[in-house]
Amino acid sequence: MTDFAVLPDPYRVEPIAGTLDSTVVLPGSKSLTNRALIVAALADGTSTLTGVGLSDDTEAMIGALEALGIQTEVDGTTVTVHGRGGALDVPASELDANQSGTSARFLLPMLAIAGSGTLTGHEQMRGRPMGDLTKALRGLGATVESDVLPIPVSSGVTGREVSIGAEVSSQFISALLLSAPAFRDGLDLTLVGTPVSQPYIDMTISVMAAFGATVDVSEGRIQVAAGGYEAQTYAIEPDASTATYPLAAAAIVGGRITVVGLGSMSLQGDAEFATRVLEPMGASVFVDNDSIEVRGSGILDPLSVDLGDMSDTAPTFAAVAAKASGTSSVTGIGFIRTTKESDRVQASVDELDRLGVSSSVDSDGFTVSGGPHQTTAVDTYEDHRMAMGLALVGLTDAPVDINDPGCVAKTFPGYWDMLATLRAEARPAPLVLAIDGPAGSGKSTVAKLISLVLRLPHLDTGAMYRAVTYAVLQAGVHLDDHAAVTAAAESATIVVGPSSVVIDGVDVTTAIREPDVTAAVSTVAAIPGVRVVLAESQREWARKRGAAVLEGRDIGTAVFPDATLKIYLDASVDERARRRASETGDEDLEAMKIAIAERDRLDMTRETDPLTVADGAVVIDTTSLDIDGVVEAIANEWPSRQ
Ligand code: C5P
Repeated sequence: MTDFAVLPDPYRVEPIAGTLDSTVVLPGSKSLTNRALIVAALADGTSTLTGVGLSDDTEAMIGALEALGIQTEVDGTTVTVHGRGGALDVPASELDANQSGTSARFLLPMLAIAGSGTLTGHEQMRGRPMGDLTKALRGLGATVESDVLPIPVSSGVTGREVSIGAEVSSQFISALLLSAPAFRDGLDLTLVGTPVSQPYIDMTISVMAAFGATVDVSEGRIQVAAGGYEAQTYAIEPDASTATYPLAAAAIVGGRITVVGLGSMSLQGDAEFATRVLEPMGASVFVDNDSIEVRGSGILDPLSVDLGDMSDTAPTFAAVAAKASGTSSVTGIGFIRTTKESDRVQASVDELDRLGVSSSVDSDGFTVSGGPHQTTAVDTYEDHRMAMGLALVGLTDAPVDINDPGCVAKTFPGYWDMLATLRAEARPAPLVLAIDGPAGSGKSTVAKLISLVLRLPHLDTGAMYRAVTYAVLQAGVHLDDHAAVTAAAESATIVVGPSSVVIDGVDVTTAIREPDVTAAVSTVAAIPGVRVVLAESQREWARKRGAAVLEGRDIGTAVFPDATLKIYLDASVDERARRRASETGDEDLEAMKIAIAERDRLDMTRETDPLTVADGAVVIDTTSLDIDGVVEAIANEWPSRQ
């Protein structure tokens, strides 16, 4: 665990040289922990909360509950709460929410249940709004004597019906809902306006329901029955807002990060950051019941997105936007300028500007023009999320110095340790599954299927040789002019996607399969300069991805002689000609056989990197094999599968 006393300030975040390859276990959700603590405190009997995220914020809540006469025991990440069926003591001194927004909001109705007392908090918390909540409590008959902390409460809730503005913070609504089963007559709450952060209200209701509360939701209205809660054993999910940092790191640095314990069933809206932000920016995202995995290439497309219902992810978005190749923007988050630890809109823009990344404040969010940054110290505004988000910028290109790094303790005291672990576990070289073999041996089919099974990106290197061949044929370059063909390969930008091939912006997916290209490609591929250029770009492609399947003629021999797993696929010429003929619709099987044999001859006898079985390769003759069996056999050889 980080020793904050000796943590350097500023704390330097250095770029990670390799590609990420980590599975991360994160602390429990602060939001769920603080909700469950309130509910367990009001329940009748002893509840056990497991996977609790202990941090400054949750400790503030536990301390305050103790002051309200609720006994708790903390053992590692398990907290036992001895609820008293809605009975709470009047606290002996001021009830302190410290810097915790959820604690301040959730504890105010609890004071009303206790009957009297004063709620206070850290300096920064005193400036944060409480007005809609105090107003609603007054509407319910409580005597609440201030609209900002410290707030004295001198009498409790007597009514049942009230309305509340829903557009400032969903925490006010959650606060009333959580205490409502302990109000004398329950609660009939009318929401005025469209609620911000609806997923947080859903989260509140689902925790309440887990402890036996009856909550009835209809359009603009939520009713809670009186009757208290039943004690439970309740498992807290890992924190989804916190998960955005390592997941974004995979997209920024390249490689793989898997977060466990969080998945498609998550109660937390922020669990969608990967699919709603990182995936459209170009990362591959896999979500199942119990995990979220992001595989990035380090290359990010710009994105414009509304984060109104997952606004805590705005500082993470600022970091990925700073790394994107273009202009990104976020909307729907104007309300966070006054309700969070800092004005995260202005703060993001100011600090990105300081880093040399141009950005601007918009009416409802901010805009960032991604690009290189310079090393400098950035301010974090006593705001854990600003520190954790800005740190991500330093993971590539140039270091970033984080002022007041200790502020992460608010929700994730282990953050700097986690970044150190990602760095330590990063791979200096990519994991490569090399599949070589002659035309028609089944390479492409097998490579595509295996990339799906192993969740690895796939590169058809033959398509790159074909694209260069197409370009030089189009340009009328003579194939004997090696310097000119090599220059053409060097200057070309080739993008081979899962189902398309583009060279210099021209989609050549179909054109590169035409007979003229097929007839010339082996001649072009025999030119040493062309091979050097394409092999280097294939290495770069794989390095960025951390782990990948590459198919071709020389992957295991020349491009990645140290590949993790090498496969050489073969089949009889007759069978290969038959497969190609059925693919192309060509009926002249004899001519196909001759063409394939000629291509084999050229590819196997050329001077540079000829097609041959690589040292250590597993040779599979697919002539009479079933493809699924071949795929399964190869998948079982792959290390992360074992
Ligand atoms: O795999 P495909 O048939 O599309 O490959 C076309 C040609 O590209 C091959 O016949 C070979 O000449 C060349 N090639 C190569 N090295 C690779 C991939 C393909 O020389 N790694």
